[in-house]
Amino acid sequence: MARYDLTSADVATLLAGEPDYRARQVWEGLYRQGAAPEELTTLPRILRERLAAEPALRPGLRLDAEVGSDGGDTVKWRWALHDGRMVETVLMHYPGRSTVCVSSQAGCAMACGFCATGQAGFQRNLSTGEIVEQVVRAGAESRRRDRRLSNVVFMGMGEPMANYDRVWASVERLHADMGLSARHLTISTIGIVPGIRRLAAAPLPVNLAVSLHAADDASRDELVPINRRYPLDALMDACREWVAAKGRRLSFEWALIAGVNDRPADAARLADLARDVRAHVNLIPLNPTPGFLTKGTPPAGVRAFCDLLTSLGVNATVRRNRGTDIDAACGQLAGRAATPPDGPD
Ligand code: SAH
Repeated sequence: MARYDLTSADVATLLAGEPDYRARQVWEGLYRQGAAPEELTTLPRILRERLAAEPALRPGLRLDAEVGSDGGDTVKWRWALHDGRMVETVLMHYPGRSTVCVSSQAGCAMACGFCATGQAGFQRNLSTGEIVEQVVRAGAESRRRDRRLSNVVFMGMGEPMANYDRVWASVERLHADMGLSARHLTISTIGIVPGIRRLAAAPLPVNLAVSLHAADDASRDELVPINRRYPLDALMDACREWVAAKGRRLSFEWALIAGVNDRPADAARLADLARDVRAHVNLIPLNPTPGFLTKGTPPAGVRAFCDLLTSLGVNATVRRNRGTDIDAACGQLAGRAATPPDGPD
């Protein structure tokens, strides 16, 4: 248990004997200011000292490494968790908004061959507090730069829908306690059908992104092993259910891999699926990872694929790549500890 795993009732219990408003001050300090209790100068010094020594209020993330890129507009953090596991978070500043990409698990069990996290395997689920704290830290850093953190994407390490309950609890915290708009929160999934159905029935209007990458079962079985459990028909049914329940725009993510899923026939099949659920398609040229030799589609091919989709009546955009040079780009998060330049990695 760490500070962002506590409920407001837990905080009130820790402050039993103090005036009632103290619990609210600590809670708002944690969520609105991203401040540790000992930093809250509105609290008496004696109380601050007691809270600073309180085990339940320890931070859940210890900064292990920070790297910046894109002239400071992208920053990647590697955090050590209480048990030594490592996860990464990426904060990206754009002209009108700042977006944080958070991890939901240490490692990932989905085993997609093209993804660095998938190559490394599964370690454990993150707790609600470990997820929330990534956003709080990004919010505090954004404020230091006179920016306001507005968007959260669950596109870091892990499969959010394989850790559904904790991810959902974190969504509720971000919305209710940090004041982020649910419409600015996006859950990305490899296609866990029961998770998509649960999200369709959930109350808050968060966005859904589905990492499709292939539009026929034979290719998708290869690229995304979980497709053998949840094949395209079942996935598309769940997507239809989500769209019908939410009335919101779905996105399909498509990492363009040279010669694998970037041919005109791939675009045609993808266009059929996208039109069926009126999905927006986000194209990302595959980022290089150590364990996958096939390359990303070159820029001209990405452009042509995008144009072909557009001509087939699909809303498609090419996603700008951030932080490739610091291994912070899509699919590159590995959470490995720093090693010497020529050390074993
Ligand atoms: N497990 C979730 C969220 C994490 S991955 C999911 O699969 O959606 C976030 C996005 O990055 C997904 O769309 C994923 O397919 C994509 N991705 C993974 N590896 C990549 C790579 N090497 N290059 C580009 N995108 C990649």
